[in-house]
Amino acid sequence: MTDEKTRFQGKVAIVTGASSGIGRATAAALGAEGAFVAITARRPDRLEEVAAGIEASGGRALALAGDVTDPDFRSRLVEETVARFGGLDHLVNSAGVIAFGTVENTTLSGWRRMFELNVEAIFDLMRLSVPHLLERGGSIVNVSSVNGMRSFPGVLAYNSSKSALDQLTRCSALELAAKGVRVNSVNPGVTRTELHRAGGLDADRYAAFLEHSRTTHPIGRVGTPEEVAGVALFLLSDAAAFLTGVTIPVDGGRHLTCAR
Ligand code: NDP
Repeated sequence: MTDEKTRFQGKVAIVTGASSGIGRATAAALGAEGAFVAITARRPDRLEEVAAGIEASGGRALALAGDVTDPDFRSRLVEETVARFGGLDHLVNSAGVIAFGTVENTTLSGWRRMFELNVEAIFDLMRLSVPHLLERGGSIVNVSSVNGMRSFPGVLAYNSSKSALDQLTRCSALELAAKGVRVNSVNPGVTRTELHRAGGLDADRYAAFLEHSRTTHPIGRVGTPEEVAGVALFLLSDAAAFLTGVTIPVDGGRHLTCAR
């Protein structure tokens, strides 16, 4: 039986979106289990905080600040991680944004920005990482959303981007299965992070959204980043050795609901 606290001892992981929310919680959890974690996001001060936490809990951290929509940065991220830690076992794609809009008022540039981060950057990081993951039989976890599995009005580009991501997860899982690399996703419901405020909700509207979310999530509350991170670590670990191409809702049952 693998010791839950040492599942990732000496394993090398890249975690995007590691300055906040689900990415931050996942990076911290990997570090606490002894992983070498390359953490990335645009805010260097935040990354330094996360890196200090990882080092304090027994892991090793490499903080690389940058924008994952920049192709040169993506190449540098993978190359520097492999150069520093000697290989790559895991990739966690958590960097993402939400934006609100309908088919009538979403602009073409807004649609493109959404896909550039939520889909294209992830595809390219997977593409760049796979040769290294193949060497070690590694695994990938993408952070999708219940919005990829269900349709909600008013978040058109976001929902579409997450559905595309789920298809990317499933197709690449099939392509890599026989080669020993697994690809899965977590599909969170509403989780308390910076996502919705960064996407444009002011404090009052966010508070009202969280309150309303108690009724849309059968368990009766929103999730925490740590709850999502726990499932992400399970999917990355050998305990999930026979799982690939799954998109696991971590959503208090929300994916089961229909308007009534
Ligand atoms: P946060 O806003 O708390 O975190 C988003 C992270 O992405 C931050 O670390 C941010 O860092 C990083 N990021 C954003 N844009 C870029 C960019 N261009 N380049 C590099 N990094 C970037 O949100 P969450 O933790 O909630 O979001 C993580 C994932 O979870 C997203 O994919 C989101 O869609 C998904 N999700 C979240 C849900 C929720 O309710 N919170 C529900 C379902 C899915 P920085 O600003 O420093 O660059």
